[in-house]
Amino acid sequence: MSYSQRVYEELKNKSASETEFLQAAEEILLTIDPVLEKHPEFEKLGLLERFIEPERIVIFRVPWSDDSGQVHVNRGYRVQFNSAIGPYKGGLRFHPSVNLSILKFLGLEQVLKNALTTLAIGGAKGGSDFESKGRSDSEVMRFCQSFMTELSRHIGADLDIPAGDIGVGPREIGYLYGQYKRLRNEFTGALTGKGVPFGGSLGRVEATGYGLLFFMEAVFKQNSINVDGMNVVISGSGNVSMYANDMATKMGMKVVAMSDSDGYIYDPKGINFSTIQEIKEVKRLRISEYTKYSPSAEYYCGCKGIWNVKCDIALPCATQNEIDLCAAKKLISNGVIAVGEGANMPSTTEAINEFLTQGVFFAPGKAANAGGVATSALEMSQNSMRLFWTKEEVLKRLKEIMTGIHKSAKESAIEYGYGYNLVAGANIAGFLKVAEAMKAQGLV
Ligand code: NDP
Repeated sequence: MSYSQRVYEELKNKSASETEFLQAAEEILLTIDPVLEKHPEFEKLGLLERFIEPERIVIFRVPWSDDSGQVHVNRGYRVQFNSAIGPYKGGLRFHPSVNLSILKFLGLEQVLKNALTTLAIGGAKGGSDFESKGRSDSEVMRFCQSFMTELSRHIGADLDIPAGDIGVGPREIGYLYGQYKRLRNEFTGALTGKGVPFGGSLGRVEATGYGLLFFMEAVFKQNSINVDGMNVVISGSGNVSMYANDMATKMGMKVVAMSDSDGYIYDPKGINFSTIQEIKEVKRLRISEYTKYSPSAEYYCGCKGIWNVKCDIALPCATQNEIDLCAAKKLISNGVIAVGEGANMPSTTEAINEFLTQGVFFAPGKAANAGGVATSALEMSQNSMRLFWTKEEVLKRLKEIMTGIHKSAKESAIEYGYGYNLVAGANIAGFLKVAEAMKAQGLV
């Protein structure tokens, strides 16, 4: 049994119920074998065992009261996974499905993603099983204040810098930051994704969606694909999906379908970014409203059906495991040529293998959606220097970073015998950087 297989078997015994975490760990461990062969010293140093164990996990009670005075209690988490190359950094997710397995998988992915950006940031993730849908602004504010009252003891501008994720957008970051500032009595960059008037970076809100398209542009260029007029399907209609739509349209593609957790819309004329922005970001309504704005649009119940829509390019941007083997086969039989993951781990292991064996160009989330965290790191730099870059400057840097990630994933894959396999390449490039730092820092 190889070193990585042994570590994975041990992890399965220890964390049997953490299915998402095991899924993410298996994919990483099983692709880095060629690296471990080249570095036999890693086994003696217990490097893999340390790499897959979070440095620290904080779990806490979050009590808050609703508008009628009824008290509710949610569970809050922060998984500080790895600080070998920089302070912990990663988003907060507020969604009823949040549990330790999901946050550990997200944290582990974040470690490699952050390493790939070439910026000095370690990996973390956190959040709560809180559901903001249907809650008033003042309820969301009270929840955020209670959550931050505990979290503030564990974060800081040089220690751990959370950001947004599912259910945590500019509104929530504003409330969280306000409470952090009040508790700590300091104005420091301890959160990113802040509003521009109080230290946020221009371009951050667009960064993950735009970054995904910049990454895909590098994939298309590498493989001489002309995307003009091609049909794109994007799942979700949140932060990542919305700005993926914007940039895909600006690059000459046509976004024909988008979704939320209730259903999806199909519009053969192309889905308008500003309309989606008004419905989802400004009015906080359901995507079904879109049919009121566009007569050519149709709404279908059930979000999974979106993968039956014929397209050339699929961009899953909603949540984990949204594309299973069946959806992957449907996309392939409908002629998909490229899949770019805006969400974290939106494709199951079986779906990824199907894409790779059938010759679909596949961009894994930890590489393709790194634009958000990369721009968060640019926000940290601007906060430290007490200055602001223009949006053009930020987007220029974002594009360079995304092109650089594609290059390093491609080159690592080729160097270790995987050909143009960006899954293996991203895992190898990210792991090597973190492993070398851990090795140099001794047994910690
Ligand atoms: P948002 O909360 O802004 O949007 C999430 C979207 O996905 C919504 O349309 C939501 O629908 C839908 N969705 C959420 N959960 C489910 C589910 N279980 N089933 C079906 N649809 C679902 O989140 P983001 O856009 O920020 O994040 C989306 C993905 O991108 C996540 O995987 C996140 O980890 C990843 N990501 C985000 C980054 C960022 O900068 N924001 C950075 C890197 C990755 P509904 O409104 O009905 O809930």
